[in-house]
Amino acid sequence: MQITVLAGGVGGSRFVRGVREECARRWPDGEGGTEASVTVVVNTGDDLWLAGVRLMPDFDSLLYSLAGVNDTERGWGRAGETERVAAELREWGVGWPWFTLGDLDLGTHLARTAWLRGGLTPSEVAHRLQRRWPLGVQLIPATDAEVDTHVRVADPDELGGEREMHFQEWWTRYRATLPALAFRQRDLESARPAPGVVEAIVGADVVLVAPSNPVVSIGTITAIPGIREALAETSAPVVGVSPIIGGKVVRGMADACLTAIGVATTAEAVGRHYGARSGGGLLDAWLVDDADTPALEALEGVGLHAASAPLWMHDLDTSAALAGAAIDLGRQLQR
Ligand code: GDP
Ligand code: CA
Repeated sequence: MQITVLAGGVGGSRFVRGVREECARRWPDGEGGTEASVTVVVNTGDDLWLAGVRLMPDFDSLLYSLAGVNDTERGWGRAGETERVAAELREWGVGWPWFTLGDLDLGTHLARTAWLRGGLTPSEVAHRLQRRWPLGVQLIPATDAEVDTHVRVADPDELGGEREMHFQEWWTRYRATLPALAFRQRDLESARPAPGVVEAIVGADVVLVAPSNPVVSIGTITAIPGIREALAETSAPVVGVSPIIGGKVVRGMADACLTAIGVATTAEAVGRHYGARSGGGLLDAWLVDDADTPALEALEGVGLHAASAPLWMHDLDTSAALAGAAIDLGRQLQR
């Protein structure tokens, strides 16, 4: 059973932990001759160079969370983190004073940057970083190209009335409160999927689209030339899970991204935005929360197999149950 997941950081991590847990419960190693193998295609649109090091925030969220070394209270970064180096960097005026790099986290960024400088590609570096902990899944950055997302915002003080900033500045410094005019991934046209990405999608038994940010996580992954084509080509069912429950984003500020691209913050609107594969879109099936059952009929109307389940991932059990519901929806379509 090959399961391939497209994922961003926080929603992606919770979901992938659920997929890993559900697979371990359903297909314990060696029993019944079936084993599950899980590959995660990770968003790279949030990546950036800062203070001389390469940051890959969504990849690291998944890495730390799957390794069990993440800070569960804060919801991001390493557990037991300290910030002595960040304080020094602030004194030197290096980096962004509003973007704290923890000491343990900086260790990861330094290792990554050293390997990149030594000639490894980002996906080779990702492979090395994963060797430290038994994750039980394989993480692959969506692309080896640098496709860092920039946000165009209105600014009356600038020539032309607009300016552009890195996504992280818009997201973290301004908490996504500056109305975004557009998102742009740099050098996207020349980007290619990282080695193994197309194979993971085309060779899957089920492809799952995590409940991640539809614009700057899933939107970036599927905008990389070659990935949408692989999704169109795969014989595996493609099942998406809504990151929107009852008209709310659950966690974070993804609604600001949806508003910027003219998509309403509802499970139905995001399902329509992704679209049915039968009509040139991304998905065969769309899983919404039980609170959103009134949308099922309209979603079926646009060619999606729509179903509902509890979509709140409160803990490992609820995440695993959600993963199970998504896998089952895919298997129904296989038959
Ligand atoms: P980021 O990269 O850290 O922004 O994380 P992602 O791109 O993976 O997704 C963030 C989105 O995940 C949030 O805006 C929510 O819409 C969604 N999300 C977070 N927790 C849950 C949950 O428990 N259930 C569902 N269905 N969606 C969630
Ligand atoms: Ca992210």
